[in-house]
Amino acid sequence: MSKLKEVNCPVCMGEEYRIAKNTNIDLHIVKYGDLYSGLKKSQWVICNNCGFVYQNPRPTVKSLEKFYLDSKYHKHGKDQFPDSIEFVKFSYWYYQEKIDYLLRQSGLSAGSVFDIGYGHGGMLRVFADKGFKTYGVEADEEMQKYATKELKLKNLLLGVLNSKIENPKVDVIISNHAFEHFFDLHEVMKGITKILKPGGYILTVIPTYNESRSNLSRLWMNSAHYNMFTHTTLNRLFNRYGLQEVSHTYRGWLKEIDDLWHVAKYTGEINEDNLFKDSPAKVESYLKTWIPLRTLLFSPFYTSDGKWRRIFALWFAVLRSRKEKKLFANIVRFLKGNNR
Ligand SMILES: [Zn+2]
Repeated sequence: MSKLKEVNCPVCMGEEYRIAKNTNIDLHIVKYGDLYSGLKKSQWVICNNCGFVYQNPRPTVKSLEKFYLDSKYHKHGKDQFPDSIEFVKFSYWYYQEKIDYLLRQSGLSAGSVFDIGYGHGGMLRVFADKGFKTYGVEADEEMQKYATKELKLKNLLLGVLNSKIENPKVDVIISNHAFEHFFDLHEVMKGITKILKPGGYILTVIPTYNESRSNLSRLWMNSAHYNMFTHTTLNRLFNRYGLQEVSHTYRGWLKEIDDLWHVAKYTGEINEDNLFKDSPAKVESYLKTWIPLRTLLFSPFYTSDGKWRRIFALWFAVLRSRKEKKLFANIVRFLKGNNR
């Protein structure tokens, strides 16, 4: 018997939902032992009110806490704590462009930064090298030790971000692949507004299904995650706390695909909730029909084997030469991801 519980929409608290199509492969579910026993994959649904995609039913906070205390999930191997020089090199490769995007969109060049779920501390290390004062919170004690000792970072809290957080107010909050894991989004948002200066910025980098280029976008919907945002549903959550979008992109880079980068400003302005809404019917058909099609179309471009790339190039050349402009325009629209 699984120990899962039904929840309301974590963004709008709506009770009505429809089942979302995810993949049959859930690589993480075995790690959770009894929590999902009897199930081969987690179930994902689409909120019928705001279109948000979330795991439902899911484990209770209590059962998860017990599970993590028994530390069945995090088994630290030596490879999880790499040589610090190599790791800093990797961090520049992995974070530099995301940080540049934030600094460009916000106009900031100095100040203080807080990382929600800093992990090994790589992103904070890059900020510290730029002269930023760094802060952060992380649930894993071993990670905290590594970031403090090996990456020489200070002011690192142990725990989770919620309304009880105590930290000086900062100019920027960052999170890289964290929002998909948050159990109580509204507690996280209360924590954010408690430590972000009015007029400050937040950079959110998260996996997403929207404007997908591969089946990875459906694989993201697994038992290790609870939330799958688009820029619209993230804006709906942020709006309620006075944070407004400055910009977003689904095409930040080619190193990691099916990824959303989002910058928002703490303006204090709160608009009508329903200005930020994904159509549940469109989300349903996107997950079911469009993702497999887009995976098929994009896969040649996102594998190391480039044989299909050449075939596609030829195909495009034929289309162009026939001057089938309307069809070609539709394909371009499709490639750009504007089909919903
Ligand atoms: Zn909702």
